[in-house]
Formats: sequence, C-alpha cells, structure tokens
Amino acid sequence: MKSYMVSRYASLDAYTPGEQPQDMEYIKLNTNESPFPPSPKVTAAISGEEIEKLKLYSDPEGKELRDAVAKYFGFKRENVLLGNGSDEILAFAFFAFCAGEECIFPDISYGFYPVYAQLVGANATEAPLDENFSVDVNDYIGASKTVIIANPNAPTGKALPLSDIEKIVASNPDNVVLIDEAYVDFGGESAISLVHKYENLIVCRTFSKSRSLAGARLGFAVASEGLIADMNRVKYSLNPYNINRLTLLAGKASIEDDEYFLKNVKQIIDNRKYTVSELEKRGFDVLPSSANFVFAKKNGKSGLDLYLELKKRGVLIRRFGKDRIKDYLRITIGTKTQMCKFFEKLDEII
Ligand SMILES: *Cc1c(COP(=O)(O)O)cnc(C)c1O
Repeated sequence: MKSYMVSRYASLDAYTPGEQPQDMEYIKLNTNESPFPPSPKVTAAISGEEIEKLKLYSDPEGKELRDAVAKYFGFKRENVLLGNGSDEILAFAFFAFCAGEECIFPDISYGFYPVYAQLVGANATEAPLDENFSVDVNDYIGASKTVIIANPNAPTGKALPLSDIEKIVASNPDNVVLIDEAYVDFGGESAISLVHKYENLIVCRTFSKSRSLAGARLGFAVASEGLIADMNRVKYSLNPYNINRLTLLAGKASIEDDEYFLKNVKQIIDNRKYTVSELEKRGFDVLPSSANFVFAKKNGKSGLDLYLELKKRGVLIRRFGKDRIKDYLRITIGTKTQMCKFFEKLDEII
C-alpha cells in the first residue's frame, strides 16, 4: 500500500515494548513490573459508585492526587504534574525542552529517549557509558543542552550518587536537567530534594514499578513551578484529561499506604540479593543493581540463546540487540517462588 505517513516520520523508529502476553502462562520477568498486587486500599477506592462516575470527565488538574503527591514529598501542588505513565511526562518534557534543539542522554539507557528525540526533531547526543557501564558524569557537566538521565539507569541498574546529579544540575543553569527515577525506590538516591534549590531540575517518577500500578498508567514530575507550567502547556495542547478517574483514585490510595509500599520494596531488595548471589554461583557477571532488575551475562553464553531457551520453558526475560550488551540478560526481580523457578529452568539450560 502507498504510504500516507508524513515524510518527517517515514523513518521514525518507534519504541518496542517488552512482550506482554495476555495469558498467565509465563513467569514474567521481562518488563520490571511488581510481582505484588496494588495496595488493598487501591481495590477499596475503586467502588461501584466511582465506576458510575465514569460518565463524567476526570479532573484535568488532578488536584487531589497532585496534593497527595506534593504532601508526600514536601512540595506544593504547583510543583507536581501527572502523566499517563511517566512515559507521557517524558513526552511532555521532550516537546517542551528539546523540540528542534539539542539534548544529551546515555547511549545505553531507556529506549524511549531516542524515540522521543526523533519525534520532536531534537538533535540528540548519545554519550557512551564508561567501561564499567556507568554514566560518565563528565559528559553532562556544563553540557549546555537538555540533559536526560535515568537514575538508577536502565537496563544496567547502576545508580549515580546524588552529589554527581547535583554537579550536573548546578553546571547547566541555562538548560533543563531531567532525572528519570523510575527505579529509585529500590536503592537509588532521589534528587527530589534538589528541586527546592534548582529551578532547572525535573524529577520524573512512576507508579508502575514500586507501586504495582503499571496497568493503571500513572507517573508524575516534581519540578519548579515554571517548568511544570511549561509542561502543562504541552499537556493542555495534547490531552487535558490525561489521567482517568479510576487511576486518579488508585494513585491517591497507593501513596497513602506507605506501609504496604515499603514492605513490598523490602521484599524485592531481599529477592534481588538472593538472585545476585545465585547468578554469581553459576558464573554470571552481574552489574551492581539499585533497581528491581539485574543485568547479567555469562561468559561464553549467547544472550539470545539463553533468552530463547528460557522462553521455551515459560520464563520471559528481556534482552537487547545493541552490540555492547547483546549477551546481557535483564532479569526483573519477582517473588522468591518465581526466582526459584527461574533458576530451576536456567539450570536445565546451562
Ligand atoms: C518503566 C520506565 C518508565 C516508564 O514507566 P511508565 O510505566 O510509563 O510510568 C520510564 N523510565 C524508565 C527508565 C523506565 O524503565
């Protein structure tokens, strides 16, 4: 068929999400979801009465949830923006701060950054990770372009200390620095407190990983009022009702149940320790992880073969094609039972 796509998008390389099989037959360790259900308070919040209210539009300002998030982190409503997943926050930020201009992010990082850069016509620099797969801070100090860094990084799981993030933010006063903290709850140092001090910093978070709400699609940004207003202008130019009613309720109930959240995070960290030590016993090199996944490879073993053999046995993990990381596996940390099953299948293969 003839292509009707505008020429500027003819070669757009879209993001490839991890596999999402719609049955429960796989042990799913491929997209960094939580293995635990959302807080029981979330279930309680979605009543029949609230479902009936779906006939009405949701609050475009998301006031109640923004207030809950602001209170949790010690900010004002005006410092918080909600997104339909943090992916949407990233999209708003790329439109607002990168379109037609320069930006920089690591060459091995979240696969959506180059896609959004291309979508908004940004001139993107991909700075190589150093020989230890760490973000090289020097690439970003005084970069004089919009900086986007995932901290902890994905898919490596490695984190930068807060002091390094502050150096980057302080040295780029004329540019926005966006820190994507999708995984920070599992062991990273958050930069949120720096938002009080730096008007060029955006910290982006998600309810998808540590709060078990990947399917609800909810993320948020914390930043100075000015940056939030800029991203809001993009939001109101694309999708004012970007968060649906049920997700607004789910998010509020989740953030008000810290006890449940902290218990789950602790379990993931414990299971991560177990996973790392079991992988090392089997001769894997495992990068130090501050996230709910580990990035590991076994010398002499093809990453593609391991991925395919695990899949045949009902275990899904994530693997990336880029040359430098093609033999690494990114393994989401699940329940202890899931991890034991993973090792049982792995042992059949290696
Ligand atoms: C998962 C992930 C996101 C996006 O999560 P949402 O589900 O859209 O909130 C953003 N950044 C990184 C680095 C991620 O891994």
